[in-house]
Amino acid sequence: MSSPITFNDILKATTHPLSSGDQKLLTEVYHFAEKAHHGQKRKSGEAYISHSLHVAKILAEIGMDIKTLMAGLLHDVPEDTEVTLAEIEKNFGAEVAYLVSGITKLGKIKLHDSQKEYYIDNLRKMFLAMAQDIRVVIIKLADRLHNMRTLEYLPPEKQKRIARETMEVYAPIANRLGIGEIKGELEDICFMYMEPKRYAETKKIEETYLREGEEYMNRVVKLIRETLGKEKIRLTDISGRTKHPYRLYQKLKRHEMNISRIYDLIAIRIIVPEISDCYEALGIIHREYRPMVGRIKDYISLPKPNGYQSLHTTIFGPEGRILEVQIRTPKMHSEAEYGIAAHWMYTEQEQPGWRGFFFGKKPPVTTAPKELVWVNQLKEWQKEIGRDDKEFIEGLRIEFFKNHIFAFTPKGDIVELPEEATPIDFAYAIHSEIGDRATGAKADGKIVPLDYHIENGQVIQILTTKEKKKPSRDWLDFVKTSSARSHIKRELRHNEFGK
Ligand code: MN
Repeated sequence: MSSPITFNDILKATTHPLSSGDQKLLTEVYHFAEKAHHGQKRKSGEAYISHSLHVAKILAEIGMDIKTLMAGLLHDVPEDTEVTLAEIEKNFGAEVAYLVSGITKLGKIKLHDSQKEYYIDNLRKMFLAMAQDIRVVIIKLADRLHNMRTLEYLPPEKQKRIARETMEVYAPIANRLGIGEIKGELEDICFMYMEPKRYAETKKIEETYLREGEEYMNRVVKLIRETLGKEKIRLTDISGRTKHPYRLYQKLKRHEMNISRIYDLIAIRIIVPEISDCYEALGIIHREYRPMVGRIKDYISLPKPNGYQSLHTTIFGPEGRILEVQIRTPKMHSEAEYGIAAHWMYTEQEQPGWRGFFFGKKPPVTTAPKELVWVNQLKEWQKEIGRDDKEFIEGLRIEFFKNHIFAFTPKGDIVELPEEATPIDFAYAIHSEIGDRATGAKADGKIVPLDYHIENGQVIQILTTKEKKKPSRDWLDFVKTSSARSHIKRELRHNEFGK
């Protein structure tokens, strides 16, 4: 299925043009890799180098730096050819060789046992690799994405196993890094191989619905564009979008496969220049179209745990149909699509000549209102140490992970918490509403008290009540995270005044 690819496609795919020096460098790397892989073929029958080119192209599309593109082209060279890591280092320097060696090491982690301990352990190894240099994991994700796109050439039993592993390990990591583009595509391909019947069923429901939905979407985009234009709101972009099949299926399952009960099947995405424009646009839309109660989400003030920011609302739109509206700035948008990779785009624009995410002398200047807390911690930590001192790094790594636990939602999303965090911390980390409405919790399927200390790797399910409920004052005695604490306090205060 993969289309023939050329080196030029990488240059065309870059989100910001490469300098002529970098272009020359990348061309050299390409010739080097092509020579190394010469004569090797992929299962699809294509020359092996086409895989390396595709991986580098994906990395260019999400805006990665030149060193990452170079490592992307070289990522299978030491493993699959006669050419050694030392030769890569001699030709292209230590940083690129370091990235390539990281990918080779990650490749050796065996992931095929689905037993939970192994899964968690492997996930942890991935996180450890990330702690060393997140670019390694991003290259690995690009590698996996292209392998998934060409999965049809493998025997069926391998397809299923690789799809399951990708769904369990790689898609959550892409999600954790906030790279929605890659996460969505990985999940859809996995879904297709893991549950072909349900995939087909979902696609059919979607297509039937979309035949009429698409035209409607275009009419709505036009109407909203006019409304906002009249109010002199500057629009960067407005477009309609439909849901990824896998995400749609997840929702359909919760709603007895009844598509008419899914309100965000059609979503209009509005991109405006500034944060203040977001709120202004939301006000105008609510004036024109009645919003649905309880579905206005301010992820700008309260970002999702993976850093996602946007305003969401569900409205009774034109012609009485229900649809979701998402409003955000260009920066929030690229962070939603490319996650942590978006930081490279912004930092490179602001700091020409800056060499990489972690190895620069000073931390990158970004105008991001927030950054992922754990990424910041890792950055701080890497600033202080050279990456040569292996023992020291090992010690710090243990230190870093000692104070953190990773718990999972029943859907497999990862929630990072401090040690001794409780189900209430977990609930607020997912969403403030879930926190407020929590009545009980299960850890790995067993009922636990709300002040229970969550253990690393547990699957936590929060039991909630449907009615509006205020948090309990007692919770303040045991919560560990400041975000939960501040939510609870705010809500209690609010309730006192509201009486
Ligand atoms: Mn590969």
